[in-house]
Amino acid sequence: MKRSLLLLFAVTAFAQVPTPESVLGYKPGADFHLATYEDGLGYFRKLAAASNRVKLEQVGKTTQGREWWIAFISTPENLAQLEHYKDISRRLALARGVDEEQARALAREIKPIVHIDGGLHATEVANHQHTIQLGYDLATSETPEFQAIRNDLIVELWFSINPDGQTVVADWYRQNLGTPYEVSPLPVLYQEYVGHDNNRDGYMLNMLESRVITKATLETEPIIFYTQHQTAPFPGRIYLPPFADPISGNMHPLMLRWLSLIGTTIAEYLDGHGLTGSMHQETFDVWYPGYIDNIGNFRHTISFFTETALYRYATPHFYTVDEFPAARQGLGTEMLYSSPWKGGWWRLSDACRYMYEADMAVLGLASKYHEQMAYNKYRAARDTIEKFSTEPPFAYEIPRRQHDAPTAALLMEKLMLHGIEVHQLSDPDEWVILMNQPFAGLVKELFEPQVYPTLSQRPYDVTGWTLPYQMGVEAHAVTTPLSKQMRDSLRPVHEVSGLTAPFSRGANASYKVVNQVLAAKGSVAFSGEDIDVNFDKAKLDALLAANDFRAGASPLPEGAKPVKAARIGLYRPWVASIDEGWTRWILEQYQFPFTSLYNAGIRAGHLREHYDAIVIPDMAERQILDGHRPGTIPERYAGGVGDEGAQELRDFVNDGGTLVTFNNASLFAINQLKLPVENALADLRPEQFFCSGCLLKVHIEDAKNPLTAGLTPDTIVMFERGPAFNTKTDFKGKVLARYAKERSPLASGYLAGADRIEGKIAALEADYGKGRVILLGFKPQWRGQSHGAYKFFFNAFYE
Ligand SMILES: [Zn+2]
Repeated sequence: MKRSLLLLFAVTAFAQVPTPESVLGYKPGADFHLATYEDGLGYFRKLAAASNRVKLEQVGKTTQGREWWIAFISTPENLAQLEHYKDISRRLALARGVDEEQARALAREIKPIVHIDGGLHATEVANHQHTIQLGYDLATSETPEFQAIRNDLIVELWFSINPDGQTVVADWYRQNLGTPYEVSPLPVLYQEYVGHDNNRDGYMLNMLESRVITKATLETEPIIFYTQHQTAPFPGRIYLPPFADPISGNMHPLMLRWLSLIGTTIAEYLDGHGLTGSMHQETFDVWYPGYIDNIGNFRHTISFFTETALYRYATPHFYTVDEFPAARQGLGTEMLYSSPWKGGWWRLSDACRYMYEADMAVLGLASKYHEQMAYNKYRAARDTIEKFSTEPPFAYEIPRRQHDAPTAALLMEKLMLHGIEVHQLSDPDEWVILMNQPFAGLVKELFEPQVYPTLSQRPYDVTGWTLPYQMGVEAHAVTTPLSKQMRDSLRPVHEVSGLTAPFSRGANASYKVVNQVLAAKGSVAFSGEDIDVNFDKAKLDALLAANDFRAGASPLPEGAKPVKAARIGLYRPWVASIDEGWTRWILEQYQFPFTSLYNAGIRAGHLREHYDAIVIPDMAERQILDGHRPGTIPERYAGGVGDEGAQELRDFVNDGGTLVTFNNASLFAINQLKLPVENALADLRPEQFFCSGCLLKVHIEDAKNPLTAGLTPDTIVMFERGPAFNTKTDFKGKVLARYAKERSPLASGYLAGADRIEGKIAALEADYGKGRVILLGFKPQWRGQSHGAYKFFFNAFYE
């Protein structure tokens, strides 16, 4: 009786499961239709209500405050055991206390979790549109293929990993649909602060979204983490692993082998379903651990992305072969492009179909090899623990007393968010990261300098990211085995606390405290690195304690300069700027008061009445002047600051304002203000000089200058396709920092033509009228990581 009731219930529930079309009013992927995140979530709620094969879970909230939900899809029996399977996953992933025999048994028992998601690059719209149909079919299809997937696996389906962006983009498209601006670019960042860089935050976890994904992933420990993108190298229809070299040596080789196997499996499956144009190994390498869809490889989850072709939004496009690159117009067959695409219509539904079938290929493979994949997670973790038990580095030591101790504490917190074990030693007072732990490969990747092999093609992204360098944190690799006595005296750290650093401008957090005091009408004076505060003692002590500082700063000597907060304007163009977003985020984090300054605000003039300092983040001169070309975007977003805006900026500095320019925006300032400064790297061909992003050492030339207060004598900066300066004879001002003379300034990453930058100026202050221009030929705020260089601009914000 019970049994037949259950059966009846299942059949009834199944019969009532709504199709996406019946809820949305169109088939997902239809021309000219984009579902918002709310539309997608609305559908998944109905799906979960109607099907016992779907379980929704809230994983957190987004930056803009949306409730963020994901779906687990499997058989009801498997879903009932979800917590048990998560627990097995974690045991296998950590390998602690699990021997070979137990691991084999657990791998046999588990129904492993596979993460499939609807992407985080919101303008790549098929990413999050295709997951709706996939969710429905995974829950309802009765073909043997789907039954096997449900029986063998639990699909962790993130229908979007950028809910805010999905809605921002769908709204923008709907508003322009049918107008001349139907395919015009989005004038804002689709992730509130970082837009496309939401896939460059994988290890730093600055954004809420990155933390939510990481936390959830450490909890489920999927065997596969698959993210959809939509930027295939043309005319390929989908870009798949194996990816381009170079590749990090800190991933377990099994991860890379599986990547290749999965990539060619997808290609074979697509060809088998009549979908041509799969491509491999071009353009994108995957060394950078900042990709959220790559970092998992360092934690033994097979992690990857694929790039399907995109026209724009949900608008179809017809391609002819003569639009193809010359080398591919012959439609020749290549080893890794063996079913060339022949052109024709490309619709959103095509992109959705490629993604859907690629998901099916991955799930099919995982269904066949799930036991081996689950075991491999254990195997990779065990191998890593064994490797660093016998070879260096055996540990990293991070002194708790150092130049910027609160930032060192922040680094420890970031590691712990990744499930890295941190220990504490009391004598000497330091944090210790033992390397015989499962995710040690990630620690090594983040702590060691990146050394590049000889390259056959130039890297397309950054090449050096060594975190202690970027953050200005002292860390030492331990190259001999630790003594038993030392190991025995280590205590595990569950929360980084108890730090009482001296309150000084050496620490970035001191700027936050100063800004909080100034905002509360307290008074502050600077003398070199020292800070004197006149403020309610109890409140000050609370602020100091909250920021890891010791209470009771000693009073300053005579001559300390009282400061007040500068009125800051941050230039925010309609050519949405990721660099602007990162700057805005950092200013908010350190509580600098500022106003976003748009083109109209600059052109309106009277800048000096409203601002003391104006910041222009990294962007090209023409972009600042011209912005979007009129006719390509709705009128209010067209144009840049123009010649009149450039004149207003000249007037602003002439009247005593401070203009701060990051990286290539410095060239705008040099040209528009006719500064007696030149770019020493102008006109060099890539064969003569090339750096797509590496860490370079600069020497502080003017240590007494208030603009360099708190910086270490040798600071490491992120140099990314930027300028370096020479001054001309009539230059008036100060050189702040310079690249080393007669030796390469390279600290980490790939730099070609080092001699071209040796001895050149990295940062300077140029006098102009009653004001000044601060040119920084690098990215002092790079992706919210280069804490060691923040003071290059923080110091410009006090009067
Ligand atoms: Zn993408």
